[in-house]
Amino acid sequence: MGDLGGPGIIAERLAAVKAELPAGVTLVAVSKTQPPEAIREAYAAGQRHFGENYAQEWRQKADALSDLAGLTWHFIGGLQTNKVKYLAPRAAWIHTLDRDELARELGKRYAAAGVTARVLVEVNLGGEAQKSGCAPDRVDGLVALARDLPGLEVAGLMCIPPPGDDPRPHFIRLRALRDRLGLRELSMGMSADWRIAVEEGATLIRIGTALFGERPSRD
Ligand SMILES: *Cc1c(COP(=O)(O)O)cnc(C)c1O
Repeated sequence: MGDLGGPGIIAERLAAVKAELPAGVTLVAVSKTQPPEAIREAYAAGQRHFGENYAQEWRQKADALSDLAGLTWHFIGGLQTNKVKYLAPRAAWIHTLDRDELARELGKRYAAAGVTARVLVEVNLGGEAQKSGCAPDRVDGLVALARDLPGLEVAGLMCIPPPGDDPRPHFIRLRALRDRLGLRELSMGMSADWRIAVEEGATLIRIGTALFGERPSRD
């Protein structure tokens, strides 16, 4: 298990980040590999949006935390089509839509549950340096397809700049693409670069280690 930093530390870190956030920016606390108790501590401090990366791990935590009213789950991890069944309908936001087949499966599962998922198209702005995400020249087609599917609301775009790159040009490009498509949300910025993302117009920032400390390993 990781060191949670002692009682109160998560609340302090949350307050410090929130104090710097302009109105209209939602902080998604990335709790992957963190135990349910860490999420409870953040929730007790007023945090309501949480992000998870691994479908089955998330499902277990969502069950363990089902008593926490108003908690909103964001799925931010790479998503295999056969894992969508674990997410629908309780993950309200999906940040990693990157292909047509996944859009169809998400639409099918959420529509069957009578729920609309807010989806963000993950854009691969890093080219060869990056494996996940939809190529920029395919974003229009994917957005158009997803917009026509029941069960999905296309809310915006998401990116993860390749490690080692200056993130700012990536954030600027994502914002321009979002504006051209007439979408609202921009999910960008992590522990190391969220201030830059906010300067460039992020509406959702995804922060893990800067809130919860180093992650416990997954094995
Ligand atoms: C793990 C993860 C984060 C959080 O990263 P930190 O550096 O711990 O803040 C944000 N977004 C995605 C997609 C992630 O996988």
